Amino acid sequence: MHYQGNIFRPPSEAYSILLQITTGCSHNKCSFCGMYKDSRFSIKDDRTIMADIDFAAAHCRNQDRLFLCDGDALIISQDRLLNILSAIRAKLPWVKRIGTYANTKSIKRKSQGQLQELREHGLQIAYMGLESGDDITLQNIQKGADAARMIEMGKKLRASGIKLSITVLLGVAGKERSHIHARETGRVLTAIDPEYVGALTLMLTPGTPLFDNADRGEFVLPTAREMLEELAIMFASTELSDGYFHANHASNYLPIKARLPRDKEATLRLIDQALQGQVGLKPEHLRGL
Ligand code: SF4
Repeated sequence: MHYQGNIFRPPSEAYSILLQITTGCSHNKCSFCGMYKDSRFSIKDDRTIMADIDFAAAHCRNQDRLFLCDGDALIISQDRLLNILSAIRAKLPWVKRIGTYANTKSIKRKSQGQLQELREHGLQIAYMGLESGDDITLQNIQKGADAARMIEMGKKLRASGIKLSITVLLGVAGKERSHIHARETGRVLTAIDPEYVGALTLMLTPGTPLFDNADRGEFVLPTAREMLEELAIMFASTELSDGYFHANHASNYLPIKARLPRDKEATLRLIDQALQGQVGLKPEHLRGL
């Protein structure tokens, strides 16, 4: 495979064929994110992409999921995306699920009909970083969209039949707005009602603007206990009609895997037990991004 730069994928795509069709991130401004800071956004040429699909056809016969990398593959033109999806379907007929990252800008550029067309060509899941439902926090971290836009684009994607997995970031509002961030994030998640929510816990990355803010004392990361309180409020504020709320990423202090609404009460009890010290938290040295 012709990979360029660092390749990132969601944890649930660990065993997927990773087909890089863009490099970097079309936004690349979020103050906490160091993922693509050194790469320029570009769309790879069709010949390289098709050669990688041929490579996967020869060498990846045991992987039935495929993830389109990098930061925001949905941004590329409809014709080219359909061409890529058609080639995957023709040459990798055993692939059952194709996923991609998406953001509000890339979803906005596609019409409802185009999103449906992508689903019909095999795009089954998109991962969108919400991070926070609090407008001030979204502005502070330069996410490039406010909560209303997140809700609008999240619902638009869902209406197309493409499954939606949303990432939220504990700690990203700092100590000061922690509880507001938790409540507002729960409100936005409830409004979008995605199939999956993945909560990560912020770990400051050297070289990012947020790391520098923290270094100057302008941003204060909540403590482990405060992160847990934030999780409790966010989880309590989130109502999903039938979805999963997971916080089992390596960065989290307390792993939770809940199906909502079924597991709401039991999970809130578990978080409460952790707050009371009856359930151990992951030690700092075992956390990772
Ligand atoms: S968090 Fe996502 S959208 Fe923001 S800069 Fe990083 S990759 Fe791009």
